[in-house]
Formats: sequence, structure tokens, C-alpha cells
Amino acid sequence: MLHSSQTILIVEDEPGLIFTLKDTLENEGYQIVIAEDGNKAIQLLDENIPDLMILDIMLPGVSGFDICRHVRERNLLFPIIILTARDQEIDKVTGLNVGADDYITKPFGVKELLARIQARLRRNDEYTIMESNRLNLGNVQLDLNQGVVKRPDGNIDLTTREIEMLKFLSGFPNEPVTRKSLLRHVWRYEQSTSTRTVDVHISKLRSKIEMQPDDPKYLVTMHGVGYMLKFKKGQ
Ligand code: CA
Repeated sequence: MLHSSQTILIVEDEPGLIFTLKDTLENEGYQIVIAEDGNKAIQLLDENIPDLMILDIMLPGVSGFDICRHVRERNLLFPIIILTARDQEIDKVTGLNVGADDYITKPFGVKELLARIQARLRRNDEYTIMESNRLNLGNVQLDLNQGVVKRPDGNIDLTTREIEMLKFLSGFPNEPVTRKSLLRHVWRYEQSTSTRTVDVHISKLRSKIEMQPDDPKYLVTMHGVGYMLKFKKGQ
């Protein structure tokens, strides 16, 4: 199976491992971009957004954790798989907390890595981010690039989490989205989050984007299911 349209950014400083990864993934048809240190990775990420990133933690310059944070602070949602030589619980927890989706411990089997990559890319295909990052809900305009809600009664800033929620929900216009799905994609398995967390954030978000939050027209509750963002495509 070829994946020629998909680009994987490999951030790794070990030449032998770079060679193996590049060779293996190119054989699978992926386009490969290499960053051998953290600063190069940041620079590449400012120029182009990959479909997936394989990220070593121990790097010269900026650490893998900081790169991960950098990506998520920019509201980029592509999957990140962390490679770590240190099989320590703290690394895994830190990695997932800064926004990585998965981790794999060195040394690893190529088949396992490929399976993880394919699983992550498939999951990412489940939703697409709005192209313009702008959405009109009646007389309220959402600008997700600027993180601002423009209302007739003034502008309100959105938090990073709210922007991510809106990006995710808008990938499924007029379709119900479950709380669990929001948790998985927006909170990314962070510990100590529950579906109650989703409800609290939805309620806050609703007060920003709805003129009458008690009687929402756009971000509606689907009883027993979750939530739905109602809007016409192309708005
Ligand atoms: Ca390394």
C-alpha cells in the first residue's frame, strides 16, 4: 500500500536510526523529511505541516518535549509518536501530557512502528480541519486563526482548548460527536479528565459563541450522545 500523499517528519539525531526509518518509510511510500536537531525541527514545522511526526526526546538543542509543546500551542493536531530510549514511566506520562499521541521505546521493531503510524494516520483522517478557519454562526463570527469570537456586542478571546474543540466539532458539521471522541481528540488521553470536563468546557464555549447560551442554536446537546455543531458548509 502506498501513502505517497502523506509526509512524515522524523526528528532524530542518531544517524543509524535515521537511515533505517527513512529507508523503511520511503519503501512504504511516505514522503520523508528529516530534522537532526530540535531547532531544525522547529524551523521545518514553521514552514510545512507534516501529516505525522516521529519525535526523539533526547535531542541536541530543543528537546522533544518542547517541540511537542510548540506544535500543540500552535493548535496543530497532526499525530505525534515519541521515540524514547529510556523506558521510564515518567517519559511516557510527560510525553502524553505535552500532547503526544503515542510513544514507542527503542529498540523497536519496524513492523510495530509501521502499525502505529498507520493507526494514527487513519484516526487523523476521521476529521478534517476547516480550511479557512473561519465560521459564521448567525451574526457571530469565529476566527480560529486569531482565536477570537466576533459578536455584535464585542469580541471575546477563545482559549487554546476551545479552539481545538471548535476545530474538531467543525470537522463533523451537523453530526453528533460523542463526549468520548472529544476527550480522545481534544484532551488526548490526559489523565484526570472525564466526560464531565467536556461538559464544563462546552458550557463555557457556548457562553462565548451563542447569543442565548441557555437556548443554543449552533452548539447543541444531543441527549445521550454528546454534542453537535450546526452550520452550513461554506459559511
Ligand atoms: Ca537522541
